[in-house]
Amino acid sequence: MKVTIRRVGEWFLWGLGAAVALFGLYLSVFFFPYPLFPHHIEHAGFSVYSDREIPGDFERILDEARFRVGGMELYRGAKDLRIFVCRSQRLFVFVNKLAGKGHGGQALVISVAGNAFFSETVIESVGQRNGGRPVHSRLEGSWSAAIAHEVAHDLVFSEVGYGKARRIPAWKSEGFADYSANLASTGADSDYDFRSRLGLLLDDDSWQSGVGFIDRRHFRWHVLVEYLCSVKGMTFAG
Ligand SMILES: [Zn+2]
Repeated sequence: MKVTIRRVGEWFLWGLGAAVALFGLYLSVFFFPYPLFPHHIEHAGFSVYSDREIPGDFERILDEARFRVGGMELYRGAKDLRIFVCRSQRLFVFVNKLAGKGHGGQALVISVAGNAFFSETVIESVGQRNGGRPVHSRLEGSWSAAIAHEVAHDLVFSEVGYGKARRIPAWKSEGFADYSANLASTGADSDYDFRSRLGLLLDDDSWQSGVGFIDRRHFRWHVLVEYLCSVKGMTFAG
């Protein structure tokens, strides 16, 4: 077959078209994931989509999440993230891999798209592994806290912009998200006491579980930000 310049040009255009189509398909997972999540409810101002039937107690979870979000320093009534519940861990892993992330976390937020993906498997296994302790923390395995945590990250993105938000150190980014997500719930808990929280953090025996030591790094960041904000009166800005 004689290869002419015109034929090479046609191949190039076909290749370019295929690459653009593939890239569009790739972006659609983050920006337009609805076909993968056919179940949908609207409640408490949240839009929720799920790959399988939405769990029966999700409206209560969304009421709790709304309560948590309402207590956040950076919440100004802006629109919330859309929530995509991955009841299939395979689907959650797939979305994370496409985003180039590890998939051990409870959720993945795609702030520019306004979408957050949650792993039912991870959230529930964290709660079971840690026996729901410490309460008012990400280790509790609470759906409403996990949702509020991602909303808190998103509010930081909106506050300072994506570039700046990415440069925030992990202790502040994660600690502030956990602190924000649990501020309203600690305020409503008459038994809550920051000193015993600190004691719990420092007590090695409390972090031993049947499957070894529980990683308390995130809880340390949470308690540090809580100390700076609740005790020292600092804000997100400083
Ligand atoms: Zn986080």
